[in-house]
Amino acid sequence: MAESAQQLPYFYGNITREEAEDYLKQEGQSDGLYLLRQSRSYLGGYALSVAHGRKFYHYTIEREISGTYAITGGISHGSPAELCHYHTQESSGLVCLLKKPCNRPPGVQPKIGPFEDLKENLVREYVRQTWYLEGEALEQAIISQKPQLEKLIATTAHEKMPWFHGKISREDSEALLLNGPKINGTFLIRERDSNGSYALCLIHNKKVSHYRIDRDKTGKLSIPDGKKFDTLWQLVEHYSYKPDGLLRVLTSPCTRSDYRSTISFTRLPELPGQHPTNWSAGGIISRFKSYTFPKPGSKKVSHGIVNRTESFSSLNPYVTRPRTEARGREVTKDSMPMDTDVYRGLYEDPEEFRPRTVKIQRDHLSLMEQDLGSGNFGTVKKGILKMTKSERNVAVKILKNDNEDPSIKEELLKEATVMQQLDNPYIVRMIGICEAESWMLVMELAELGALNKFLLKNRDVVSEKNVTELVHQVCMGMKYLEEKNFVHRDLAARNVLLVTQHYAKISDFGLSKAIASDENYYKAKSSGKWPVKWYAPECINYYKFSSKSDVWSFGVLMWEAYSYGQKPYKSMKGGEVSLMIESGKRMECPGRCPSEMYDLMKLCWTYNIEERPSFATIEPKLRNYYYDIAQ
Ligand code: AMP
Repeated sequence: MAESAQQLPYFYGNITREEAEDYLKQEGQSDGLYLLRQSRSYLGGYALSVAHGRKFYHYTIEREISGTYAITGGISHGSPAELCHYHTQESSGLVCLLKKPCNRPPGVQPKIGPFEDLKENLVREYVRQTWYLEGEALEQAIISQKPQLEKLIATTAHEKMPWFHGKISREDSEALLLNGPKINGTFLIRERDSNGSYALCLIHNKKVSHYRIDRDKTGKLSIPDGKKFDTLWQLVEHYSYKPDGLLRVLTSPCTRSDYRSTISFTRLPELPGQHPTNWSAGGIISRFKSYTFPKPGSKKVSHGIVNRTESFSSLNPYVTRPRTEARGREVTKDSMPMDTDVYRGLYEDPEEFRPRTVKIQRDHLSLMEQDLGSGNFGTVKKGILKMTKSERNVAVKILKNDNEDPSIKEELLKEATVMQQLDNPYIVRMIGICEAESWMLVMELAELGALNKFLLKNRDVVSEKNVTELVHQVCMGMKYLEEKNFVHRDLAARNVLLVTQHYAKISDFGLSKAIASDENYYKAKSSGKWPVKWYAPECINYYKFSSKSDVWSFGVLMWEAYSYGQKPYKSMKGGEVSLMIESGKRMECPGRCPSEMYDLMKLCWTYNIEERPSFATIEPKLRNYYYDIAQ
């Protein structure tokens, strides 16, 4: 796995250019002495500071869309460390070769940026207040969507800042600024138009200066000829630390009138004449301790990459709307699992009647013509379930009527019994059973269907990052199953259903078993129609099934996912596969599969059960890799 910058001894975190130069000076300032620091203007970017000829040179390292790193216009590298190593051999564009890393002095840790400090709380509050989540559902949402949430928070955080006044006129901004004590450095930011252009308005010698902040084609923000930033708060942070072309530095915000001061300051606002370098760590953002997002119904500045206004205005998050509008936001290709109506269980809604039995009345259920799929039990249809105060789209597994075999009904009942005991966002939940013209199992709907088929059809539009996101969600669902002492026994890409391109749920609990508390495996009495290619050796050889054998299947599922829906072990027969496994051979790495993920698959295919990792071990590994590539 690419070495994270945090682990590099010459990485200093969120220090300023001047601080970098001080460190290089202290270390002798020899030609080619270098250090790495976090970019204060680009999200996820870095800066390389190099000493040469008694001068200092600073290079921005951008994180590219593909997840690679490059000095603007230069060659891409897998990590900042690889980039630095490359420049120890090739100057290509740098003032000189990198000769000696300037390591942090003993006891100095990489400096944590102002947003880093805040973002954990901000993300938590945002998820809590946007999707009304608490407890496990909240934790799972944060774990599975952390990179997306952090980006969302980072790019919309300015809306929560007291200095952001939204769309007010130039005249109004002047009136606001000149109404107060006219302290030099008091500032605000207003929105100029809806194209992402703003103005920074700043008091200098009792007058207001206005600086345009334009957005370039790549989305970066800057005042004319000024430094570019990914976000407004980074821009404010920068100019609150040095004027860099402005008439003076930004000192205190001119707070907007509807701003509800739930933000606490770690220090009092500056006094006139006080130099901003007195501020402890950084500028204005770093002085916020916590933030409470506007409550539903409150006026909200409407701006940002995603407009979530409606999610704030809906008092009850369960009000069922057409699926495309679930919880106030379109369920688009990029929407998050929490935006759909199947993230939380249906019966968690306090206003929705929770039936004592899971029996569903036939007249509450209407079935659609079209089949979603079929199995040997019968068909799966889309349906609409009428509930106490709303309606919801569901999937209905319908037992064939002409089926004389009572064991099929028994199997479906067993599946229902297992599903009833499970409640996790990454598992298809059972909603109820309806006994009418046929026997029907009503479940949450995952309309995009089976993962393997989806990937096969969409291999050109689904990125490896997207695959990793989905595979990680399956792993989260399996970790839950492992904690609940259930074995799935049929974990395969065909049994992972997609709600959206970014939301997977484990389904088909037909073979699943609860493991007795005094056992750690389930022993089948005899073999059956088993998915041998997904089974661990102990399942085939001793009929023993445990969460560890599900881990083996998960490895095969990962292989299927990274090979975009190919069949594992090609055309081999079950017996041939067993022989191959016993001989120590494993499937090869799929073409588009990252080596880190292939290593994880092979770990899942550890022959010995005791040495094979559990889902509790695999999930954080997968999570870290996902965060790494999705940052
Ligand atoms: P199963 O026997 O559970 O594997 O279901 C057979 C097929 O029906 C699956 O491969 C899916 O295409 C479809 N299906 C089953 N459950 C659902 C669901 N909850 N939502 C959408 N489609 C489903």
